[in-house]
Amino acid sequence: MSDTNFTEILKEKKLKITPQRIAILEELDKNGHSTVDDIFNRIKIKIPSVSLATVYKNILALQSMDILKSVKTPTQKQKYEINKKPHIHLFCKICEKLEDFEIDISDFQDYCKNASGYENIEEASILLTGICKECSAKKI
Ligand SMILES: [Zn+2]
Ligand SMILES: [Zn+2]
Repeated sequence: MSDTNFTEILKEKKLKITPQRIAILEELDKNGHSTVDDIFNRIKIKIPSVSLATVYKNILALQSMDILKSVKTPTQKQKYEINKKPHIHLFCKICEKLEDFEIDISDFQDYCKNASGYENIEEASILLTGICKECSAKKI
C-alpha cells in the first residue's frame, strides 16, 4: 500500500491526515502485528519529535474508526494490525510468534448464531496456541 491509499482511508473515515498517522499505518503495513512500543521505536527514526503518548493516542483513534484492530496474545502486550480480511491468529508457545491464518469461519459463525440465538454475529477474535513449524523442527 502507498501513502496515497492511507491518505484516502483517513479521508474516508473523516480523520485528520497527519504524518504520525501515515507513519503508523506504513509501519504496520510493513511489519504486521506490533506493540505500541514497536511502532513508537520505528516511527521515532522518521519523526524524532514524536512522543509515545502521541503514538498511543493516534493508535486508539485509528482503532476506534476500525482502521486498526488490536490482538491480545497470551503472554505479550496488546498488538495492533491493520484491519483487513477476517482471519484468525496462531500463536507459538515457544517463540511467541503471532501469525495470521486465513480461514473461512462463516460455517462456524452460522453454527454459533443458530445455537445461541444471537443475531448479527460478525466479528470473531480467535487465537489458537501451539508450536510453530520451525520450533517443532528444532525440538528433535
Ligand atoms: Zn515457534
Ligand atoms: Zn492478524
